[in-house]
Amino acid sequence: MTQPQPAHQPATILPFRPPVAGNNAWVDAGAYLERAASQIGLESEILLLLRSPFREMHVEVPVRLDNGKLAVFSGYRVQHNGARGPYKGGIRFHPDVDLDEIRALAALMTWKCALVDVPFGGAKGGVHCDPSTMSEGELNRLARRYMQNISHILGVTRDIPAPDMGTNAHTMAWMMDAYGSANGYTPGIVTGKPVELGGSYGRESATGRGAVIVLSELCRELGAAPADMRVVVQGYGNVGAWTARLAHEAGFKIVALGDVHGACYSDDGIDVPAVDAWLAEGNALSQFPGTEHVPPSEIVTLPCDVLVPAATGEVIHTGNVRGVRARIIVEAANHPITLAAEPVLAKHDVTVLPDILANAGGVIVSYFEWTQNIQQFRWPEERVNDELRTRMMAAYAAVREESAANSVTMREAAYAIALKRVAQAIRLRGFV
Ligand code: NAD
Repeated sequence: MTQPQPAHQPATILPFRPPVAGNNAWVDAGAYLERAASQIGLESEILLLLRSPFREMHVEVPVRLDNGKLAVFSGYRVQHNGARGPYKGGIRFHPDVDLDEIRALAALMTWKCALVDVPFGGAKGGVHCDPSTMSEGELNRLARRYMQNISHILGVTRDIPAPDMGTNAHTMAWMMDAYGSANGYTPGIVTGKPVELGGSYGRESATGRGAVIVLSELCRELGAAPADMRVVVQGYGNVGAWTARLAHEAGFKIVALGDVHGACYSDDGIDVPAVDAWLAEGNALSQFPGTEHVPPSEIVTLPCDVLVPAATGEVIHTGNVRGVRARIIVEAANHPITLAAEPVLAKHDVTVLPDILANAGGVIVSYFEWTQNIQQFRWPEERVNDELRTRMMAAYAAVREESAANSVTMREAAYAIALKRVAQAIRLRGFV
């Protein structure tokens, strides 16, 4: 009997990557913590506790590919700190995933949840793979097997994953199904699900909406009209596309939109709904008619007032930071600016809305989704968006106040607030 042939290229199997010590993101995460600890005079025992994650899991994820071969991927789940509630954080499918990156992202989640005052600790997960080369069937099998293999450290009151780069609502549906087949119907085990399966209205747009809320507030304080602000968005996935759509709706002038293949740029402004229609026809973003094509490496140095990195981490580094022309950077991505590049931006008076504030809209609405699942009750979208705005504005105001009171950057202020809250939870639990 002849075997059916796959209609696509078989997945690329990446070589096994052991954890790489000294990866920038994890080194930087440690430096942010030390800096905040000395800023608030944190006791050394709590600092000791927070320097390393509570638990790290490395699993093998075997998947039968469409071509009949077996591929074995490396998967991780890191739980950084759970003093304030169950662990919470996304799952990334990406070729750069390694243990150090996942550790750093888990720590960021601890600070983010504390800053926006949702009752969660910080976690992150990931699989070292290239989803752009995999079929839907292969991704389905990968998501299920990864979920099965980490499931004994998860739970609605223990650890609740969500989407991140390379994963989406559909991936969450597969993961919920895999968990449910062993444990019974458990919609609250993941957030960012499709609305039809217990997802929340407003979750898909939440990270971008939160970023636009804080950007709009900063511009209002600076007396800058949105129409005069030229915005460049790097990354046109979940976060980048929603940031661009909502910023466009709010009257900002979007001058460039980019993805992994390059960007389209026009100083006259780009009609974002027309871009969506262009992409829906299967066209490339960087070929959008009436715009200039820009290679991926040049996106962050394009002329603009506002730069929104919304793709991978460490895209602004010592090698390109002097070319950055924006006055404001909205960190919609996690850790898009390396620690070493920060002083250059500060010297040029670039205002950075830090990741743990700017992209916290996603985890805020994930919290709303989780509460809705527990109550088996659905909120209307207006309520989700209103409560998201209230929480983003409260966190923004707290960061501005702390930053002004202590003459520190918004990142330093955000970390100080978050660390004080996490440390207080540790003390109250009688841990140290
Ligand atoms: P996604 O997979 O939906 O989209 C990623 C986008 O980045 C794609 O358009 C891809 O082409 C682009 N990209 C990748 N490498 C690039 C490069 N070198 N140059 C230009 N573009 C590049 O991912 P996402 O969920 O939108 O996440 C984006 C970022 O936002 C990540 O840093 C993620 O951790 C962060 N984040 C996501 C959420 C969420 O709710 N999804 C929440 C908070 C933070």
